[in-house]
Amino acid sequence: MIGADHHASFRSLLERHRRFVLTTHVNPDGDAIGSEMGLARFLRSRGAEVRIVNQDPTPETLRFLEFEDLPVEVYDERAHVDAFAQAERLILLDNSAPDRFGRLQPPLAALAAKTFCIDHHPTRGTPWGENIIDDASCATAEIIYELVTRTGWRPDRPAAEALYVGISTDTGVFRFNSTTPRAHEIAAELLRLGVQPAHAYQEIYERNSASYTRLLGQALSSLRLDAGGAVASVRITRAMLEASDGDGVDTSEMTTALLAMDGVRLALLFRELPGGRIKVSLRSKGDLDVHRLASGFGGGGHRNASGIVLAGALDEVSERIIDEAKRPLGA
Ligand code: 5GP
Ligand code: MN
Repeated sequence: MIGADHHASFRSLLERHRRFVLTTHVNPDGDAIGSEMGLARFLRSRGAEVRIVNQDPTPETLRFLEFEDLPVEVYDERAHVDAFAQAERLILLDNSAPDRFGRLQPPLAALAAKTFCIDHHPTRGTPWGENIIDDASCATAEIIYELVTRTGWRPDRPAAEALYVGISTDTGVFRFNSTTPRAHEIAAELLRLGVQPAHAYQEIYERNSASYTRLLGQALSSLRLDAGGAVASVRITRAMLEASDGDGVDTSEMTTALLAMDGVRLALLFRELPGGRIKVSLRSKGDLDVHRLASGFGGGGHRNASGIVLAGALDEVSERIIDEAKRPLGA
């Protein structure tokens, strides 16, 4: 849970400034968009000027959270140079790692003095102006909830839904280790404010396309087991993505089916990105720490869910990571 110093720095942010740009990491997830929408709605209710500018468009499954009068803008250097210059504070949500802001990294670095970062990922220090970072929070949306409600604000139904989506997606719908009593208490409060959990779940998790499901089938068919069945991995190639029109689709949760196998402690999904890079999604059960493994390759995340993007060929990268993954398992 965040401390009194964090509430004070947030209050001071609100007292000193009224023109904000909000942004988040590449390939935004439920917590990224949910935190942006929840915070934006709060700031607007106070009469502040708010724009949301992200490197990537909002995935289809999260569009239902967007507000008609607050479109999420996709970053364009020329179109946004003025917005960034005029903003009094640039609020960075759900990420503090400079390289996970993609094309926004250079402008954010140049304007670091007026950045304000709110995040729940472990970090060894950031270049940002001010930080509210708490890795004991299950989601950035949890931190936003604590901050905005402490000011006396009562989230309206759309804001409550946005914050609920952040918390429920980042906890794997309340099943990961990160799920605390506090996460459930906040969720309960958000339900009282009008959130319908079945609706949010259906919007996010029950709208897959047929081609996604076929891609899932192909990915699962590539299953490989190492370390006596403790490490399960699958691969998604460019050819599979092109055949299924799956380029913009988040596939990292396909790892759920791997962790569901008895004996599997670590699940790996290797996905070919354009330009000879590989995205690795890492998931673990229990106290096995994938964040440490991911950090060793320049990635990041949390103890049970991390990611890495690195250059190389699919086979070579997967051998390297699997070799390293086997070590803590004594295999
Ligand atoms: P996913 O596998 O769902 O893309 O990512 C799982 C988690 O790992 C995310 O919540 C995010 O915190 C982190 N993550 C994913 N990709 C990267 C990356 O390229 N760099 C860093 N630092 N963290 C990542
Ligand atoms: Mn998050």
